Amino acid sequence: MTAPLIDPFARPISYLRVSVTDRCDFRCVYCMAENMTFLPKKELLTLEELDRLSTAFIQLGVQKLRITGGEPLVRKGIMTYFESMARHLQSGQLKELTLTTNGSQLRRFARDLAECGVRRINVSLDTLDDKKFADITRWGKLPQVLDGIAAAQEAGMRVKINAVALKGFNEDELFTLQEWCAAQDMDLTFIEVMPMGDLGNEDRLDQYWALSDLRARLAKQFTLVDLAERTGGPARYVRLEETGQKIGFITPLTHNFCESCNRVRLTCTGELYMCLGQEDMADLRAPLRASAEPSLLEEAIRAAIARKPKGHDFDYSRQRVDGQVSRHMSHTGG
Ligand code: SAM
Ligand code: SF4
Repeated sequence: MTAPLIDPFARPISYLRVSVTDRCDFRCVYCMAENMTFLPKKELLTLEELDRLSTAFIQLGVQKLRITGGEPLVRKGIMTYFESMARHLQSGQLKELTLTTNGSQLRRFARDLAECGVRRINVSLDTLDDKKFADITRWGKLPQVLDGIAAAQEAGMRVKINAVALKGFNEDELFTLQEWCAAQDMDLTFIEVMPMGDLGNEDRLDQYWALSDLRARLAKQFTLVDLAERTGGPARYVRLEETGQKIGFITPLTHNFCESCNRVRLTCTGELYMCLGQEDMADLRAPLRASAEPSLLEEAIRAAIARKPKGHDFDYSRQRVDGQVSRHMSHTGG
C-alpha cells in the first residue's frame, strides 16, 4: 500500500484544489486587474495532464478535489475533465468532487456537473444589487449568475454562497444576503479580503471588514450557535438558531487557521503551492512530462509536501498589509 501524504507538521494532506485556468469572464476588483495578461495556452496543462496529476494525488490519499480558477467553467472542454474524475468517485477513492465558480456558466453546465457526481458547489456572490455587482465584478451580470444558481439547484446540487466582506461595499447587505440565502435554503460563508496580487490603486487594507465585527452584528439579531464542524480549512461555522441556517467565516486575518490545514493547491501550469499565503511552490509539470510512469511524479509530490510550511504570514494588525503575496488569487485558485 502507498504511504499517505503527511507534511512535516503531521498534517495529512487529503484535499487538492486544482486551478484549471487563469482566465475568467469577470474582473473582480479584489482579484484581478482590468487589463490582465493571461498565460499563453501552450503553458497550460492539457486536460489529460490535469487528469494524470489529479489521479496521482488521489492515489496518494487525496479524497476531496475542488476545481477552481480563474473561472473553471470557461476552460474549453472542462466537462471532459469532470467526466473523467467521476471514475474516482465511482471507485470510492475520491469522496468529493466539487467546484468554486462565479456562476455565470452554470445554466449551461449544471446538469452535466450533477451527472458527473458533483453534489455541492460554491458560488461566489458579494452583492444582490445589480449595479454594485457590475461595479465589483467589472464585467459580470447579476441576473445571469442568479439564473445559474437556480439551474444548479434545479439539477439537485446544494449551493453555498461565498461572499467577500468588503467595508463600505456590502456591509449594508449583511442581512439581505443572509435572508436571501435562508429563503433559498443555501448556506452562506463570508471571507475576509486577503492581500493577494499587486492591484495598484485597489487598496486591500481600505476594503478590509473584519469578520469579528460582522459576526457581532449578526449576534445582535440572532442567537449564534458555534458548530464543531471543521473541513480542515479556514472556515468556522455557526448556526443561526432562529433560521437554522449555517453561516461560515473565513478569517485568515483575525484568526489563523493553519494548524489544521489539510490542503495543497495546483495551478493550471502544474505548480504546486503548499500554502496559499507563501511564495514557495514545486513544479510538477516537469516530472509529469518527463515520464509516463507515475514514480517520478510521486517523488516530486512527496518532496513538495515535505516542504509544506507551518502557515501564512498575512497580518493587518499593524495597520498595514503585511505578509502580502504578489500572486493574484486567480493564479492559485482561491
Ligand atoms: N472564479 C471562481 C469564483 O469567483 O468563485 C473561482 C476562483 S476565485 C479566485 C475563488 C474565490 O476567491 C472567490 O470566492 C473570490 O471571491 C475569492 N477571492 C478572490 N480574490 C480574493 C481576495 N483578494 N481576498 C479574498 N478572497 C478573494
Ligand atoms: Fe474571476 Fe473568481 Fe477572480 Fe472574480 S474572483 S475575477 S470571478 S476568478
